[in-house]
Amino acid sequence: MAGLYPNLLAPLDLGFVTLRNRVLMGSMHTGLEDRASDFPRLAAYFAERARGGVGLIVTGGFAPNVAGWVSPFASRLASPRAARQHRPITAAVHAEGGRIALQILHTGRYGYHPFAVSASRIRSPISPFTPFALSAAGVERQIDAFVRCAELAREAGYDGVEVMGSEGYLINQFLVQGTNRRKDAWGGSLQNRMRLPVEIVSRIRARLGADFIIIYRLSLLDLVPNGQTWDDVIALAHAIEAAGATLLNSGIGWHEARIPTIATSVPRGGFAWLTAQLRAQVGIPVIATNRINTPEVAEAILADGSADMVSMARPLLADPDFVRKAARGEAAQINTCIACNQACLDHAFQRKVASCLVNPRACHETELNYLPTRQPRRVAVVGAGMAGLACATVLAERGHRVDLFEAAETLGGQFTMAARVPGKEEFSETLRYFGERLIATGTSTHFGVRVSAEMLLAQGFDEIVLATGVVPRIPAIAGLAEGLARGQVLNYVDVLRHQRPVGARVAIIGAGGIGFDMAEYLVHQGVSPALDRAAWQREWGVTNPTLAPGGLAPEGAQPEPPARQVFLLQRSQGKPGAGLGKTTGWIHRASLKMKQVQTLAGVEYVGIESAGLRIRVGGERGEERLLEVDTIVLCTGQEPLRDLEAPLRAAGASVHRIGGADVAAELDAKRAIQQGSQLAARI
Ligand code: NAP
Ligand code: SF4
Repeated sequence: MAGLYPNLLAPLDLGFVTLRNRVLMGSMHTGLEDRASDFPRLAAYFAERARGGVGLIVTGGFAPNVAGWVSPFASRLASPRAARQHRPITAAVHAEGGRIALQILHTGRYGYHPFAVSASRIRSPISPFTPFALSAAGVERQIDAFVRCAELAREAGYDGVEVMGSEGYLINQFLVQGTNRRKDAWGGSLQNRMRLPVEIVSRIRARLGADFIIIYRLSLLDLVPNGQTWDDVIALAHAIEAAGATLLNSGIGWHEARIPTIATSVPRGGFAWLTAQLRAQVGIPVIATNRINTPEVAEAILADGSADMVSMARPLLADPDFVRKAARGEAAQINTCIACNQACLDHAFQRKVASCLVNPRACHETELNYLPTRQPRRVAVVGAGMAGLACATVLAERGHRVDLFEAAETLGGQFTMAARVPGKEEFSETLRYFGERLIATGTSTHFGVRVSAEMLLAQGFDEIVLATGVVPRIPAIAGLAEGLARGQVLNYVDVLRHQRPVGARVAIIGAGGIGFDMAEYLVHQGVSPALDRAAWQREWGVTNPTLAPGGLAPEGAQPEPPARQVFLLQRSQGKPGAGLGKTTGWIHRASLKMKQVQTLAGVEYVGIESAGLRIRVGGERGEERLLEVDTIVLCTGQEPLRDLEAPLRAAGASVHRIGGADVAAELDAKRAIQQGSQLAARI
């Protein structure tokens, strides 16, 4: 069974229980934890991952008490009644041969509510609520709540708990002096600051006995000023081991850190070296995390001795069968997480149920299913962008006879351009995945074929799905036609797909998602930092915590100089990039700032001249200014392409419209894949 991945698929004997392999499904908030009425959905979601072979699952965080809430009425496990409500979840996982632990998460000063508590009365930069400083009795009450929560977790059928000791939550707030100014037994010396987690773990072990998994999530790299030194981290690791923890998981970066830790531009397995440093110092198994998204990366981390287990959260949203496919030698069939955050973390932050851009079934297992059809139909899908690919492959999987027509020679549509942007290399995995799915599902593909309505009608399809996509919008700007003729004005397709040459000074018109991607593309040269860990660390100012507390390099970020001088412009007022993803927009903005990209809002485009782009900023009375640029790149949105629709409908064909052909505005791959999959599930 172990085949290509002998380490990944090796069982892990914890003494009182043996995990079937080295894959831990890491904790992630899905939005289904907050109401017991959603627990049947949560049970189905976890059961599918257990069925897919995951060794040990960790739930999203549950607060042990009201003070530890993420937000008012968010997930909490604090009563026997609540514990009973969890039983269907644990039973569903056990029925599939899996194991599951409950994460106990006390947010401390990150709690988005007025009852938040912390070591000291110091507000975090990412919360409007100033926490109450806990009294000594208050600290004891928090510990009791952790222990009680663990006890209730066992009553609920969980195999263990994970004590969340990282990402800047309550326990971290006790560990570092910046947030812990206490003068009592819980502050001051290292011994006192780490007393809270040590007491929590030792009292849980004492109360629950030897045969209960306790994972402790240890902050290896705080990435905040005055973070823990490596000596502090190791001292805590030893104390937690002695207190009775079963496994040590790795935590990377407080939530308030301004360095990306899981975004797609972070190198794969980019923090496993820290877990390796930890592993050399402790006797219990350790778990590596962050940006581990393929069996190859996971196997390499285990094979070189960096860790005993690997944690993956988002990759298991993307593909519940990750482990099973790896074990069967079908890794190419894995729907790889591209670390975009668009449907998982961005949803969680918007209080929406999480899902996955590449797998819209994630967290919707009870409502979106691709069941075999009883009435196979002949379906034409026109367009092999994300919407068309998702639709065609799900239709074919369900047993329909599908012909997929694509005018280009390759699949992927707009998505192929995203894959060319430095820091978005992962996007090519989705293209690979769909290529494999087309073959596996027996979809008939016709590339390089621009079908006409007549051709489609002549073939007598039962259903025709139009996924013909979009064309770049050409704005009305004086001098644009001449600029286009001179080759001075290009659109984003010219640059990203056709690789047309771009000058040293560039103005980008339109600061939406594609404008930002374009800026990123134009300022980089050479190897992408996403593919070179040392370069990435220099770019963001990350160092070994043995050299600087918290792992922040004393010299700060050292980005490579920009390849070009770039202006990024928008007509509307307000912060450029405000519409980008909640959890990734700040990274794009910070990255472009490091590359000295000048962003301008409230811009009026007066005209394009051979000397550059003339703009006015500041309204009618604002001054005109000539941006002396060699190239102007249009990233001004898209218009739908739906020429085929009218003649097909006129001829009485059954026509469906999806993706950009349906609504071009704010089209993204998430909506395209979701719409394509949902339609395919219905036909
Ligand atoms: P977009 O987000 O709609 O942005 C288009 C930009 O062009 C806007 O900044 C708009 O701003 C400007 N614009 C529109 N019409 C114009 C006109 N007639 N003249 C001058 N400027 C005009 O579209 P996009 O950037 O093409 O992105 C398409 C979709 O892909 C979006 O949904 C986007 O979220 C998604 N995407 C997301 C990411 C990501 O990182 N998450 C990356 C790439 C794409 P003003 O009107 O203010 O000038
Ligand atoms: Fe991964 Fe993006 Fe899916 Fe989240 S939405 S699980 S980051 S592919």
